[in-house]
Amino acid sequence: MQYISTRGDRTPKRFCDILLEGLAPDGGLYLPEHYPQVSDATLTAWRNVYHRQGYSALAFEILSLYIDDIPAAVLRALCAKTYTAEVFGTGEIVPLRHVEDDLWLEALSNGPTLAFKDMAMQLLGNLFEYELGRRGESLNILGATSGDTGSAAEYAMRGKKGVRVFMTSPHGRMSPFQQAQMFSLMDDNIFNIAIEGVFDDCQDIVKAVSNDLAFKRQYKIGTVNSINWARLLAQVVYYFAGYIQATETNAQKVSFTVPSGNFGNVCAGHVARMMGLPIAQLVVATNENDVLDEFFRTGIYRVRGSADTHETSSPSMDISKASNFERFVFDLLGRDSARTADLFGPQLAQAGRFDLSADPLFAQAASHYGFASGKSTHSDRLATIKDVFERHGMVIDTHTADGVKVAREHQQSGVPMVVLETALPIKFAETIVEALGQQPDRPPKFNGIEDLPKRVVVMPADASQVKAFMVEKCD
Ligand SMILES: *Cc1c(COP(=O)(O)O)cnc(C)c1O
Repeated sequence: MQYISTRGDRTPKRFCDILLEGLAPDGGLYLPEHYPQVSDATLTAWRNVYHRQGYSALAFEILSLYIDDIPAAVLRALCAKTYTAEVFGTGEIVPLRHVEDDLWLEALSNGPTLAFKDMAMQLLGNLFEYELGRRGESLNILGATSGDTGSAAEYAMRGKKGVRVFMTSPHGRMSPFQQAQMFSLMDDNIFNIAIEGVFDDCQDIVKAVSNDLAFKRQYKIGTVNSINWARLLAQVVYYFAGYIQATETNAQKVSFTVPSGNFGNVCAGHVARMMGLPIAQLVVATNENDVLDEFFRTGIYRVRGSADTHETSSPSMDISKASNFERFVFDLLGRDSARTADLFGPQLAQAGRFDLSADPLFAQAASHYGFASGKSTHSDRLATIKDVFERHGMVIDTHTADGVKVAREHQQSGVPMVVLETALPIKFAETIVEALGQQPDRPPKFNGIEDLPKRVVVMPADASQVKAFMVEKCD
């Protein structure tokens, strides 16, 4: 399998060539040159694989269609090591839970950091360790987080050979639980840097360091952000696992509603659908930061300024632009890379927006690709959390609540609607208390986590100080 860039670079690349990379050199995102097609017979075979051999065996079947430069036995072992009941809490890894009528939740948040990002990041940790070992190289991951990404990356990379993680976060702005999760890690290869500023300051530091190409090369700086193809690929697997659990035969269709920010998660759903998985609708649920809902309603993609980006009670979806969206637009435009490069390059840089409303291809987002969308606000979130608790006795997190709210607006009778549960409520306890007047359950292994010793350095928002710190730790 070869990978290409959405902006036209056709230098042949295989999976391991792009595994440790972020953007393609031309600024585009990597995609496979084609989507392998899953026949009815294969889907039936995979049903049996999932039911008899489990999630990790299904993951191997899917990943091996896209990864042909890691020996099959090694890839199978990496999947088996990643997707265990020990790490993900249940043998099914991503069990479906029934909510009401045709509405289901797919539990993706029982990994080490209680958010769905573990599903991909845990695999990435094992892939990185394998590939770096094979090359005899090391990598220093520099990231910025407002919560879920940073902790998922740290728990995936802790103790991994050849990898160090330097994670910046805005000082004092993450929830106490999120801070405790990250800062209580004592592994020698994990470094927490609390920046005196906001999340944007952290991102600016990461950009400044990455733009210093000499430094980047000398210190082997890498990232693990959501545009990484391997992360997206790992997420494709749970769409198949969700479909298989929700159906008995391949004649049935299933819809998914996905709480969305950077369009990474739902883009994996798009890939699964392009492979032939019988998905009816892919419903994008946003919070008040409705960049994506606006696009799917109007055809206008408009990046927000920082003054226009709201801090919400589903903070992991607080985005100003959707960094994976270019992948879908590339497909929507019939894989026209010149046009994609123009829209996401000059057009966004100059106008901060592009408009496909008059293009007949825009209508295909719904008709050919199954996309629909909706938006949920703080009061919707509270009402949904309360309603689901009162009627079904389930406590759902704020992001998942955005999903449930929007899913209910798009349900079609007879088609199971699966909402992806993207985090557990304990991560966002303050809003749960606001909605229910009581604390959410805490998995026992997290008891007292806030009282553990913390390992974090506090720094001003200054890239040169972050660099100096990295230099010191790399020597
Ligand atoms: C990251 C995250 C999202 C958004 O996922 P994208 O892939 O960026 O669309 C939603 N919910 C939670 C809890 C997250 O951590």
